Amino acid sequence: MQTLRVTLEQDEIPTHWYNVAADLTNPPAPPLGPDGQPVPLEKMATIFPMPLLEQEMSAQRWIAIPEEVRQIYALWRPSPLCRAARLEKLLGTPAKIFYKYEGVSPAGSHKPNSAVPQAYFNKIAGTKKLTTETGAGQWGCSIAFAGQMFGLPVRVFMVKVSYEQKPFRRSMMQTWGAEVFASPTNLTQAGRDVLAKDPDSQGSLGIAISEAVEEAAASPDTCYTLGSVLNHVLLHQTVIGLEAKKQFDKIGLYPDVVFGPCGGGSSFGGIAFPFLADKAAGDKRAANLRCVAVEPTSCPTLTKGAYAYDFGDASGYTPLMKMYTLGHDFMPPGIHAGGLRYHGDSPLVSQLLHEGVIEALAVPQVATFEAGVQFARAEGIMPAPESCHAIRAAIDEALRCKATGEEKVILFNLTGHGHFDMASYDRYLAGKLEDYEYPEAAIAESLGHLPKVG
Ligand SMILES: *Cc1c(COP(=O)(O)O)cnc(C)c1O
Repeated sequence: MQTLRVTLEQDEIPTHWYNVAADLTNPPAPPLGPDGQPVPLEKMATIFPMPLLEQEMSAQRWIAIPEEVRQIYALWRPSPLCRAARLEKLLGTPAKIFYKYEGVSPAGSHKPNSAVPQAYFNKIAGTKKLTTETGAGQWGCSIAFAGQMFGLPVRVFMVKVSYEQKPFRRSMMQTWGAEVFASPTNLTQAGRDVLAKDPDSQGSLGIAISEAVEEAAASPDTCYTLGSVLNHVLLHQTVIGLEAKKQFDKIGLYPDVVFGPCGGGSSFGGIAFPFLADKAAGDKRAANLRCVAVEPTSCPTLTKGAYAYDFGDASGYTPLMKMYTLGHDFMPPGIHAGGLRYHGDSPLVSQLLHEGVIEALAVPQVATFEAGVQFARAEGIMPAPESCHAIRAAIDEALRCKATGEEKVILFNLTGHGHFDMASYDRYLAGKLEDYEYPEAAIAESLGHLPKVG
């Protein structure tokens, strides 16, 4: 029988995360405060616990995964590495297509890989309550689940329009014991200010971030959590690629190209960075390896953005981070891959792209759903709209291999299932989905508002 699913034993869950900062050619650019100086640690310690801040700044290559975290990872990890043999056959490609399936987690995506250690390190640092914001609800669900695992109360500020349109993600968070509020709320000054001006505000991610950060900053035993972008989040996600390497070892293969969808960059970093570790260590198998971050053409941060210092949120509340950005007040069109609508990107992913270590590619919306449907019909799994971006890129690569006869090994990150996204599939199936033009004028406009640094 052909091997379609490469599994590992529970005790093969990695014991250490990989920190790509140890292998960067240049030191990472520090986050800056409003005065243009690096943000002091004490300032960040008002909203993040010390163990996570240490990881955020660490240059140590391997960082131990606590046993308590591995024990919770074991509820769904190691996740399967699968061969998409039926898809290969359908495409008539000589390439071998593999995907790492992260939809097996309780929340249905890769996000609990970081939510669990974030809750754990907060717990041991004495944090009594967590706050966060969520848009469509993927991150809110993940941190609600993780908080419950360690008995930490979680407060989620959910963008009002999603709160009303995506009631089931809200019920999941509440089932895991979290408090969920439609943001803007009257619980915070930031929320009250917005409501005073516009009582019917539908909210935005920027407002929800401000509310969650304000609560965390106001109380010494409350901390804030973030589901992507930051170095420690990417660190935690490397469990994906580390497992994938063990799985490829088992079948005696090594990928030629790795694709991942890219919003804030955490799942892409998670699958790609461990392979870059091989490259850095001079492993011959990785000499020609390509790692490609795939984003929507409607929010083309890596492919059309500027590499510059910018705010992490829309309201200019966070420190400045050096990253590819479309400008913090860029409003991407309302595409269905909600997780890929961020104006910026992870500073680590951005630096690696800037230094030419990784690549980036943008794909249009309708073609991603086309790929998702083709994948679902061949392989059975219903992919999240975000994941469909990587599937599109993997299929296109496999078709190029068909033309050239190359037997490449393609790996992509299937970051989540799409069971809560069927309304988007409905629109695709009804022929109602559109491609948005690359909003050149809007991007030029918002890039004009980049903060001046140095
Ligand atoms: C959030 C999300 C993404 C994008 O976030 P990254 O931090 O770039 O990984 C991708 N896929 C799914 C299923 C998500 O929930």
